[in-house]
Amino acid sequence: METSKYRAILLFGAPGAGKGTQGKILGTIPNFFHCACGDVFRNLRIDNELGRIFLEYSSRGELVPDDASIRLWRNSIQGSQSLGRFHPEKDTLVLDGIPRNRTQAEMLSETLDVRAVLYLTCPDMSKLVERLQRRALRENRLDDANLNVIRARLETYEKETKPVLDYYGKDLVHTVDSTQSPVKVLMDILKIIAPVPL
Ligand code: ADP
Repeated sequence: METSKYRAILLFGAPGAGKGTQGKILGTIPNFFHCACGDVFRNLRIDNELGRIFLEYSSRGELVPDDASIRLWRNSIQGSQSLGRFHPEKDTLVLDGIPRNRTQAEMLSETLDVRAVLYLTCPDMSKLVERLQRRALRENRLDDANLNVIRARLETYEKETKPVLDYYGKDLVHTVDSTQSPVKVLMDILKIIAPVPL
């Protein structure tokens, strides 16, 4: 059974902590496959039922319901597999944005073999808000343009997403100071994951 699970490293942290930036870099390393759940949602079309659901929830800073999120993510990863982009026997998933609450972590427990959780910390809330506002226009993200939505996302993170850290437990969780420059954050991440048997 163990062999049929996807090997995974989770990128964890508040919105704006830099998961996407680091995930993209890690995804360029051979045998790593980056998958950002938010990107999967954003690639949906607006005339798609799930696309409409996504817009409804994300524009309020809330999580999309778990069943829909997990189903969409499974479809996407299976799609990448059948297109020959992701090879689970040799590739390790670098997951960003999923699982996002305890229920999702439980729903994925039979699917994921989590080897490490990289917890990007940023104690300065105002820095997170500033980063999100900066990327709103650059990346065309409506949910980053409104301060109330940003606050709601940070609250959702504190209340619903943070408990995922306890689910995986402290042996798997590695803390990285994400207030550093991207290159230093990357260096800390590589020091953590290079020795992890994959
Ligand atoms: P951020 O981490 O900056 O909030 P993401 O791109 O990861 O941004 O997610 C954007 C939005 O997509 C979230 O606010 C949420 O509404 C939705 N979303 C992404 N991943 C999930 C998930 N695993 N479960 C539920 N909703 C999700």
